[in-house]
Amino acid sequence: MKNQDLLQGSCLCRSICFSLSGGITSVRYCHCSHCRKFAGTSPAAWGMAETANLTITTSKNQVGKFNSGRGIRCFCTNCGSPLWFASIEYPQIIAIPLGVLDNDQLPAPEQHIWTQSKASWCCINDKLPQHPTYPESAQE
Ligand SMILES: [Zn+2]
Ligand SMILES: [Zn+2]
Repeated sequence: MKNQDLLQGSCLCRSICFSLSGGITSVRYCHCSHCRKFAGTSPAAWGMAETANLTITTSKNQVGKFNSGRGIRCFCTNCGSPLWFASIEYPQIIAIPLGVLDNDQLPAPEQHIWTQSKASWCCINDKLPQHPTYPESAQE
């Protein structure tokens, strides 16, 4: 395993720390209303990874879980930081908010998804592909 493929992540209070082997496979911006609430801003920048590669290195006791419909949104019950999104439809894939990763060397975002739900105050200032909903190409 290459050194840069082992990523570290943590919540604001560091009650929850985790490691991620295998790296982030792709990055997308999500404009959906659920991600907007979960992240407290929009778009939410998500890094995709394999669920099996995520290891919680601290206690799991403070991992809160909320089922938002299509998946389980996990967060720290002490500080409120988002931690990850576990899809129900694609359980082998986990989405991690880029802001909880402690590494700066991450892949560049590739696309915007759910732009039909975009907030009026959010401006897209790049030339990345925009998808109104969830495209086939986002499933990896
Ligand atoms: Zn915390
Ligand atoms: Zn979303």
